[in-house]
Amino acid sequence: MITKFIKRILRRDPMERHMQVNQSGAPKCVPKKTHRIDPHLLSKNAVKVTDTLQEAGYEAFIVGGAVRDLALGIGPKDFDVATNATPDQVQKLFRKARLIGRRFQIVHVTFFGKGAPEIIEVSTFRALLDNAGDHVAESGRILRDNVWGSQHEDAARRDFSINAMYYDPATETVLDYHGGMADMQKKTLRMIGDPAKRYREDPIRMLRAIRFAAKTGFTLDAATHAPIAKLSNLIHDVPAARLFDEILKLLMSGYSWAAIQGLRDAGLHHGLLPLLDHILDTKADSKEANNFVRLALANTDERIQSGKSVSAGFLFATLLWPDLLKNWKQNIAKGMSNIPALHDAMDDTIATQSSGMTIQRRFESDMREIWSMQPRFEKRVGRYPYRLIESPRFRAGYDFMLLRCATGEQNPALGEWWTSFIAADPAGQEALMTSVKTESASGNANSPAKKRRRRKPKVASPAEDAAS
Ligand code: ATP
Ligand code: MG
Repeated sequence: MITKFIKRILRRDPMERHMQVNQSGAPKCVPKKTHRIDPHLLSKNAVKVTDTLQEAGYEAFIVGGAVRDLALGIGPKDFDVATNATPDQVQKLFRKARLIGRRFQIVHVTFFGKGAPEIIEVSTFRALLDNAGDHVAESGRILRDNVWGSQHEDAARRDFSINAMYYDPATETVLDYHGGMADMQKKTLRMIGDPAKRYREDPIRMLRAIRFAAKTGFTLDAATHAPIAKLSNLIHDVPAARLFDEILKLLMSGYSWAAIQGLRDAGLHHGLLPLLDHILDTKADSKEANNFVRLALANTDERIQSGKSVSAGFLFATLLWPDLLKNWKQNIAKGMSNIPALHDAMDDTIATQSSGMTIQRRFESDMREIWSMQPRFEKRVGRYPYRLIESPRFRAGYDFMLLRCATGEQNPALGEWWTSFIAADPAGQEALMTSVKTESASGNANSPAKKRRRRKPKVASPAEDAAS
């Protein structure tokens, strides 16, 4: 403890140290009384990493989104560290350190504790490239940026001023290169450098702008906002996998509904998910779909904000449901029977989706399971309910069905029945199944079974219920 304290005292003032590294572009050194970062919100492991690097004579800071969140008083979900040590030098200092990436190596330092292991991502300061040579595509998009540089350069290649602050836990000071602190106070999201040029270099930054604005409640600075409308088409140059990751981050940000509104206002939603085009359509006939997706997203946001997990498969299943439902109904109208009609509709929906942003295979199989479970909730006799409850993805399918009930697309009585069935003991479950038979026989208007029977005796279809 005392040695640590002495080491901290002996460490030079970060500003002075910094000035020796960079002669130009000196940052503002922001003291604790201004940034007010609460050290309790820091990850102990991230501090271990910066301490170890600094004790070995390197520069090391917590950086990026973690500093932004800390300054907002929010506990960051992950911590990144930036240093002037090379990846090899970093790796030598930690027992569990892995080099990641071929083009530009970073180091993942893993810490094992009581919960899930924590990974601290350590990157070496990276240089900013000029717009010349073979690093840049015709559109201006940067293809390669694998050159190490000074801290000053590292700050300049970051996206927003509030994402370009470096926090030193040892001295509790923030090095602020681009006026991030002032922008935090003004609640402004401002792109570093010339915004149009930065969007051309990496069009994903347009989506990041919308996501951070939704998350922080900050306003996009006028110059940062203006070029997006003109450049929105560039988003289609981004490799599909990267686009998917970014959309997933946006949907899982805990502020997805606000972010989707932001995408629409910025004209950025077209072609990302055919479904986004669909739900953001204000035409009256899409009102039902709009309601369903709005509720699904509100539900996701609420879960994420209260620290619960959300599966991406579930989320995409909800977002694509209106489209699927439409296809399913059309297939039935063409004379197909219920289940084949559903499976054919699932193929169609996923194929249409793939023409925009490809959904990864692992999520696709979750989505198919959730969807194909839906007609099975209607079969409430014999062994069917017991078999359904044992499906590995039952919980997701059930939550999905409840969502359908909440929007009125499915009969709420069905949701209530299943909620009671899950909670009941074996005798109670038998009684519930008997009640279904009685309801059908007595013609209870609330019964989905009754509704089905009246319309089309052969088919048990939620698609038909929804069509009514
Ligand atoms: P969060 O993790 O909450 O989504 P973040 O800001 O930490 O937000 P990351 O994707 O983890 O986002 O990136 C870490 C940091 O790297 C950012 O804060 C930013 O400084 C920089 N960065 C990330 N992506 C880009 C980009 N496309 N262009 C420029 N800088 C970027
Ligand atoms: Mg981050």
